[in-house]
Amino acid sequence: MNETDRRKPKKCPYCNRLISGRTDKMFCDDRCRNNYYYQVNNEQKTYIRKINKILLKNRGILRTVNPYGRLSVPKRYLEELGFDFNCFTGIYKTKKGREYYLVYDQAFSYEEEDRMSLVVFYRDA
Ligand SMILES: [Zn+2]
Repeated sequence: MNETDRRKPKKCPYCNRLISGRTDKMFCDDRCRNNYYYQVNNEQKTYIRKINKILLKNRGILRTVNPYGRLSVPKRYLEELGFDFNCFTGIYKTKKGREYYLVYDQAFSYEEEDRMSLVVFYRDA
């Protein structure tokens, strides 16, 4: 922290009031600090819940569309079912350089002519 930072009045990130007293204080008091971290934690949980919901929906779509483990479908077909192509759990690259996007045990890969190939990597136990 440099001199100008130290002189500039700081505001509490929770209640937005000016902080008085020690210059290294970040919050007015313990209550503001607790409330602030509680709020941050809640926002993170909400975000994670949202992503998990999309992932589970994606997996459900792939499972329903591809019950026998291997299939080629038009990309549009998955789009119409509400599939989110930007939400996956990992990428598997084959030796030939083809990339499979994993949604847990289900995977999709881009083919030519706006088609997708769907593959199951691990069968349910
Ligand atoms: Zn405060």
